Amino acid sequence: MDRPISTTLQKLGISGAAQQVQARAVLEAAGITRTGRRNMAEEKETRARSLLTETLAFHCANAACRIRLDSRRDGRALILVERFACEVCEGSVNRASLERMAQAMADAGMSKIVVVGGHLPRHTTLRDVSPPGISWRLIDGTRRVISKDSASDLAWADVVAVWAAATPLAHTVSAQYTSHEKTIIVPQSGIAALADEVTRYASLHRRRDSDD
Ligand SMILES: [Zn+2]
Repeated sequence: MDRPISTTLQKLGISGAAQQVQARAVLEAAGITRTGRRNMAEEKETRARSLLTETLAFHCANAACRIRLDSRRDGRALILVERFACEVCEGSVNRASLERMAQAMADAGMSKIVVVGGHLPRHTTLRDVSPPGISWRLIDGTRRVISKDSASDLAWADVVAVWAAATPLAHTVSAQYTSHEKTIIVPQSGIAALADEVTRYASLHRRRDSDD
């Protein structure tokens, strides 16, 4: 059965007019379709899909996602796609925020973050969706923290985020970290909120090598 090529491309997240032209050119160059053809046989779709993902780097409208793919320099041309098809964030707000955070931290020469508060399921999610290049120390908000531990965490970290709204967090735990210049307080409980606060902090400490 034949299907419109535009429909096949849309299913892959390629919906913009310019982007459809860009993708068609790849298919035409490989002989999967020809100029002017509207439809394509269904059985060619798998081949078309793998050819497009091998040739093009799919990024969404988030600048951080585009920058990440651009920095890979793997020879693929960039193509703007719908969020769900983005190779970096896969449409997840959390992933996109963490990606922005990772880039802001890299610009500031930072890579190590201590998170104080939250509990295991939330910490597991954080590690799972974290971009490469970020090291985490995740402190359970209910764990008994002795001052030797917090001193070591503070020495190791580039930034310490006290996740005050992510219950549970015992005051005895947070008190060990809050009065330090590297420490920021995250007033909301979401992962994106955490990432956004760290992004803000890192942006203020951005290296200005190129300016002077
Ligand atoms: Zn994205």
